[in-house]
Amino acid sequence: MQNFYDLAIIGAGIAGVSSAVYAKRAGLKFVIFESGSVGGQLLLMERVDNFIGLGLNVSGYQLAEQLSKTLNDLGIQLIFEKVIKINTEEKIVKIWTEKNFYTSKALIISTGASFKKLKIKGEDEFIGKGVSYCAVCDGFFFKNKTVAVIGGGNTAAQEALYLSNICAKIFLIHRRDKLRALNYLQEALFKKENLKIIYNHIVTQINGKNFVEEIILEDTENKLKKNLNVDAIFIAIGATANTQIFKGIIDIDADGFILTDERLKTSLDFIWAAGDCRRRPLRQLITAAAEGSIAAIEAYKYLKTAYISI
Ligand SMILES: Cc1cc2nc3c(=O)[nH]c(=O)nc-3n(C[C@H](O)[C@H](O)[C@H](O)COP(=O)(O)OP(=O)(O)OC[C@H]3O[C@@H](n4cnc5c(N)ncnc54)[C@H](O)[C@@H]3O)c2cc1C
Repeated sequence: MQNFYDLAIIGAGIAGVSSAVYAKRAGLKFVIFESGSVGGQLLLMERVDNFIGLGLNVSGYQLAEQLSKTLNDLGIQLIFEKVIKINTEEKIVKIWTEKNFYTSKALIISTGASFKKLKIKGEDEFIGKGVSYCAVCDGFFFKNKTVAVIGGGNTAAQEALYLSNICAKIFLIHRRDKLRALNYLQEALFKKENLKIIYNHIVTQINGKNFVEEIILEDTENKLKKNLNVDAIFIAIGATANTQIFKGIIDIDADGFILTDERLKTSLDFIWAAGDCRRRPLRQLITAAAEGSIAAIEAYKYLKTAYISI
């Protein structure tokens, strides 16, 4: 059957691309699906300064381009289809995309993670009209304007710092009385004159006519509400794993992250997970790339043992 593969990889972020490179070198007949663009979260990153060997001042977009080039140079064809359902039957994975049906003897899940939403009134309505989840992508549109960043972790701190070089005024709004961001990020925030941190407040509503004009803040201690005039709100409260379609098939934790062993095998011995979609201590490019390679080699070893013809 034409759509039958040794290995299927879902997701072409850095983890999936790494798996594809190792699968190619192992001589597997494999397929890689991508619902968006090669690079995944890389496309949201202004600069990649902590990927050893890459040097400084390389943008996420440039690295994503390099990943595409690598796939191209190795003759790896992507299938730009979103996987909408999988199932397993006697150690065969059945895969449905929006357009086609495929089967595979093994599967690597590298579907990454997406931004968490506040789930408040006005959020969905104003996406692209002042509500953003990515300062690097949208910050430029708010040059010399007033913006709010929501969150208290590393991502929120980085977003606020990035915006502080573009916008006139930044309010960093955090629901607790202390930030969770790393110390060096906090120190950088405290030095910014155009940045004010508002502790112990949550955002309950986003208002405006055609674009965001104000947000409603609620004091977490006395529940008093006040409005804050802003031109944009950048929501940086974390990520959710893109694993909904795997629920009930492999073990997933309460936060939606796939559980694996140290060789990245999931609760099924013909399915592996790599990168941000799995529960792991460090969600970074370098770990995602490393995991993609391990998953591919483990899949190869499994296929070699389980199927003599590989
Ligand atoms: C703003 C920001 C800044 C960051 N800064 C850094 C940094 O400086 N250094 C660093 O090391 N890390 C950084 N990170 C983290 C890093 O980007 C991630 O850890 C890494 O990109 C994860 O790679 P991944 O391949 O696991 O997932 P992703 O990059 O999320 O890729 C997953 C891919 O799977 C695809 N996909 C999902 N579901 C399906 C489906 N059903 N069918 C088909 N395709 C699907 C998606 O479209 C996506 O392309 C940052 C992240 C963000 C958001």
